[in-house]
Amino acid sequence: DMTGRRALVTGGASGIGLACARAFAARGAAVTIADFNEEAAHRAADEVSGTAWVVDLSDTESLDDLELDVDVIVNNAGIQRVSPLEDFPPDAFRLIQDLMLVSPFLLIRAALPGMYERGWGRIVNLSSVHGLRASPFKSAYVAAKHGLEGLSKVTALEGGPHGVTSNCINPGYVRTPLVEKQIADQARVHGIPESEVVEKVMLTESAVKRLVEPSEVASLACWLASDDAGMVTGASYTMDGGWSAR
Ligand code: NAD
Repeated sequence: DMTGRRALVTGGASGIGLACARAFAARGAAVTIADFNEEAAHRAADEVSGTAWVVDLSDTESLDDLELDVDVIVNNAGIQRVSPLEDFPPDAFRLIQDLMLVSPFLLIRAALPGMYERGWGRIVNLSSVHGLRASPFKSAYVAAKHGLEGLSKVTALEGGPHGVTSNCINPGYVRTPLVEKQIADQARVHGIPESEVVEKVMLTESAVKRLVEPSEVASLACWLASDDAGMVTGASYTMDGGWSAR
């Protein structure tokens, strides 16, 4: 039950974030959708009877002085870029660090004083199996997710005495627009037809041969945000069909 909890979900207008927003709202939380897709953010906020915060989270300097009064943060907004290192556009690398590592830091930083005052808080970081394992052609994403793992652990250590937990969720490939957009890029860099990407690139390491559903990720986020998970912190929960068991 999340009645009375205020939850901020970044990238909440689509995919995993939207699934988390729906699941939190269904449990009674007041949800804010932070997303730079204005139309989709308002649509999602209306659907969950929540609030839209239209914001470009890669514009990190605008977040330096933020104060955030929330009980739960889901750091979820993210993008992917697939390219060999020697061709990787430097601006794209920086953008990914800003959006997926610097902005989570700034949102956590902005929310902790209020959480400490109330003695309760939950930080849920959408990492990835790529927070724990690497794949070729994803240097920026893998670097940002590995960084997020470190940020999450430090948050856990500092927040522990104040009732604030911080954890990562590490999914394999989830059925979302982010993955659908990636199929053409993967076909190009691996030199195979698009029809073969899911089986030959995305599911090779997974023992369970299907994509993860966004609602499955949201269910884990709900548990991590619950009182029951109060002793769970600094952890990284895989939901990768067995990928990281290899
Ligand atoms: P998605 O593309 O469906 O949704 C991402 C959302 O983030 C979109 O609503 C988009 O508008 C928003 N966003 C992007 N850039 C933004 C910016 N600069 N400012 C504000 N909002 C911005 O993606 P998804 O697949 O649901 O992924 C969500 C998270 O889960 C990401 O961090 C991703 O790395 C992680 N993840 C995804 C998968 C997967 O297979 N889909 C697997 C592991 C981890």
